[in-house]
Amino acid sequence: MTFVADTLRIAYEKGLTRPLAWRKHQLEQLVKMLEENESTFLEALATDLGKPSVEGFMTDIAFVTGEVKSMIKNLKKWNKPERVGTPLVALPATSRLIPEPLGVVLVIAPWNYPIQLLLVPVAGAIAAGNAVVMKPSEVSAATAEVLGRLVPKYMDTSAVAIVEGGVPETTALLEQRFDHIFYTGNGTVGRIVMAAAVKNLTPVTLELGGKSPVLIDASANLRVAARRIAWGKWLNAGQTCVAPDYVMVDATVRDAFLAELGKAIAEFYGADPKASESYGRIVSPRHFDRLVALAGAGTIAIGGETDASSRYIAPTVLVDVDMAAPIMEEEIFGPLLPVIDVPSMNEAISYVNAHPHPLALYVFAEKKSIVADVLNRTTAGGVTVNGTIMHLTNPKLPFGGIGESGMGGYHGKAGVRLFQHLKPVLSRGTKLDPSIAYPPYTDRKAKILRKFL
Ligand code: NAD
Repeated sequence: MTFVADTLRIAYEKGLTRPLAWRKHQLEQLVKMLEENESTFLEALATDLGKPSVEGFMTDIAFVTGEVKSMIKNLKKWNKPERVGTPLVALPATSRLIPEPLGVVLVIAPWNYPIQLLLVPVAGAIAAGNAVVMKPSEVSAATAEVLGRLVPKYMDTSAVAIVEGGVPETTALLEQRFDHIFYTGNGTVGRIVMAAAVKNLTPVTLELGGKSPVLIDASANLRVAARRIAWGKWLNAGQTCVAPDYVMVDATVRDAFLAELGKAIAEFYGADPKASESYGRIVSPRHFDRLVALAGAGTIAIGGETDASSRYIAPTVLVDVDMAAPIMEEEIFGPLLPVIDVPSMNEAISYVNAHPHPLALYVFAEKKSIVADVLNRTTAGGVTVNGTIMHLTNPKLPFGGIGESGMGGYHGKAGVRLFQHLKPVLSRGTKLDPSIAYPPYTDRKAKILRKFL
């Protein structure tokens, strides 16, 4: 049986993926694939997730083409050896860090942003000079089918492969030897991936999830907070890894915040969000049932309507939530938002710190001291202050988690570096060859050496 990793390794070892011209062409082909087939991709996203086309374009098309175009533009710069200083003891010599590819990379993606979360890491791996095997999620089946059909048409299949399928196919891939595995998805499977990587000492990047909290201080601009939280929460019907999972709000402003949140929802999605063309759907009946079960743990303050036949769950806000219920234990990953009132931000910080480090944390406050306190006393993969989600739109801020929310960051230059080894090379000149460090060791040599070391 021939393994895809072995087939690609032949091309990699022949040096196919090394020339910058090859990498540039492959990256250009990725952009071309997305641009020429934009409507097909948007239709597939609508089938899988009821994704509004503006959202699909913004998060799954333009986000990827933006990242890839920046990789093309910076390809030379990001692949250039970096000259560094050399200590006196090694002179005469020069020292460099030479970026080199790792080999054959495996990228495993989830279903919620099925194009972005597959192709951004794939592009980073190509820009770094690797061969890549990509595995889209079987849950977003329509998008996986389009990718499976188009990737081989646009990409050089001797070094860029796509494998469709679910658990058995991914399990089979994980039995092969890769030089890096980039996995995005839940932590349970993250552990399976890491355990499989151990066999070959393969390094892994794990982009996981968890419960991303929102902290609202009494000093916050509540109207802006409500609008930005509503946007971040109900984008993709809440199925976003960095979506606000729950809100902890100063009790003195809870009702005013809920009123603003109600206004923002009505403004964004109308009186009946089901009829809105700007609101998505839950990815599958299984995920729909899980969310409906979670919603029972509190009092519905806003929304609550569901329709199983179209996998619709309204933007829903819960209050008086049972803090021991599953909704406060597991990542919600859907359009339900528990709002919990706290006496002050101190209690919110303690709550956050008593739980695994989140992928994202959001704090809304006009008081700078509150923002500083939250930043100093909590840990998270990334933070947006007075906003949600936006930190991941800046390619200069590596995106990733910490602890239970993952390991390793990407986007921008970090997303290329991730797939490279910075090989340290010290090159010595031969004109001088001082014998000071060579045996036989004498007292005189020792005295001189002490001056340099
Ligand atoms: P999923 O079910 O699509 O699984 C992800 C991938 O793992 C798929 O390609 C799937 O085929 C594979 N897989 C599933 N079970 C497997 C098994 N037993 N063995 C080997 N491979 C297996 O997606 P998901 O896990 O439901 O995704 C949602 C989770 O991903 C959430 O926790 C979310 O927060 C997280 N997420 C994180 C990010 C991030 O960038 N950090 C982005 C999106 C989603």
